[in-house]
Amino acid sequence: MTIIKSATIEEASLYIVATPIGNLADLSPRAVEVLQEVDVIAAEDTRHSGHLLQHYAIKTPTVSLHEHNEQQRSEVLLTRLQKGESVALISDAGTPLISDPGYRLVSLVREHNIKVVPIPGCCALITALSASGLPSDKFSFEGFLPAKAGTKRQVLDSLKNDARTLIFYESPRRLKATLTDMVDILGPERQVCLARELTKLHETIVTQPLAELLTWVDSDSNQQRGECVLLVAGNTEQHAPDELEAERVLSLLLTELPVKKAAAMTAKLLDMSKNKAYELALKLQQK
Ligand code: SAM
Repeated sequence: MTIIKSATIEEASLYIVATPIGNLADLSPRAVEVLQEVDVIAAEDTRHSGHLLQHYAIKTPTVSLHEHNEQQRSEVLLTRLQKGESVALISDAGTPLISDPGYRLVSLVREHNIKVVPIPGCCALITALSASGLPSDKFSFEGFLPAKAGTKRQVLDSLKNDARTLIFYESPRRLKATLTDMVDILGPERQVCLARELTKLHETIVTQPLAELLTWVDSDSNQQRGECVLLVAGNTEQHAPDELEAERVLSLLLTELPVKKAAAMTAKLLDMSKNKAYELALKLQQK
């Protein structure tokens, strides 16, 4: 039987609590109550979270749970939960697990049929998307791009035909280089939003074509400071490069196979519609 400790907290439950991404006033009243009532708070950086907890006069004991101790710390927290204690997980900013630690803990705890309760709140990518003016019906969160220049360009290249709004977390140190790669790979006209220092004093949310944004960021070093999210409009144009690739594959296959078979194989290989591949094959035959 579950014992109710307070109106908010149940024993033996793990609470995933979102915290502010800058403005301390963005912690929800429910989050404050949970953080006050749980037996222990697992924080990514206990010193960093100390400021937030102090601000709300929360005196609950904290333990660290970060990238380097998550495996071992998760086992310890699981034992505490199994004894009936309640635990809250917070990260340095925003929603835990979103480019932050916590995945191993949550999956372990769920494997043991212990209740996991999300306490929703801030998340930089959603905050940025909601104000960017870019399509928000379909989007893909890509986290941080790889630090290595070559791998980063490969990832951007693989995303260039994606029709969804693409969302990246980026370090201000790499912002200029990333925008330069984006201009190169995604084209200078693609709309991009730079959402910087969200909820803070110098909050800046600017949506422009990539080349213009790069020129502006380059000319104003203040734009290369603080925390930022980059959101890139999806590619809504016809995908001409895909067609070129399909034509290349079809021309090869048509030397060996009948039209229908060559079209079906091309469609499968390039993940395109069979009708489209068939249409292209007929066109090529008529050339
Ligand atoms: N868990 C967090 C969340 O829910 O958004 C994100 C943690 S991730 C380690 C940190 C990155 O989030 C930063 O490098 C930046 O890209 C983005 N971010 C966090 N706070 C931000 C803010 N106030 N303004 C803009 N971007 C922010």
